[in-house]
Amino acid sequence: MTTIRTSCPLCGDVELAPADLALRLTPCRGTGTYQFRCPHCEEVQQRPANHRVVSILLATGVAYEVVDEETPISEREIAEFLTALDRANWREHLPG
Ligand SMILES: [Zn+2]
Repeated sequence: MTTIRTSCPLCGDVELAPADLALRLTPCRGTGTYQFRCPHCEEVQQRPANHRVVSILLATGVAYEVVDEETPISEREIAEFLTALDRANWREHLPG
């Protein structure tokens, strides 16, 4: 059976089965957080999951849900998007 190694702030390294973890994914970002109940102290821990962690957890069959708890798109992100549009010359790639 697959075991997932993570660490508990109280107990150090712990090994879990995929069923012991729950992954919460942030839409469109491929990152999120995961929760697990430490098998030693039985405290529920929550950890950030980067792209690598997310792909490992999904590959091992951890249950996940998609949650949208990010703040709405910011003015800065809109500005960056518009800048990227300008830079990409996307009109040249349109058919016709
Ligand atoms: Zn623990």
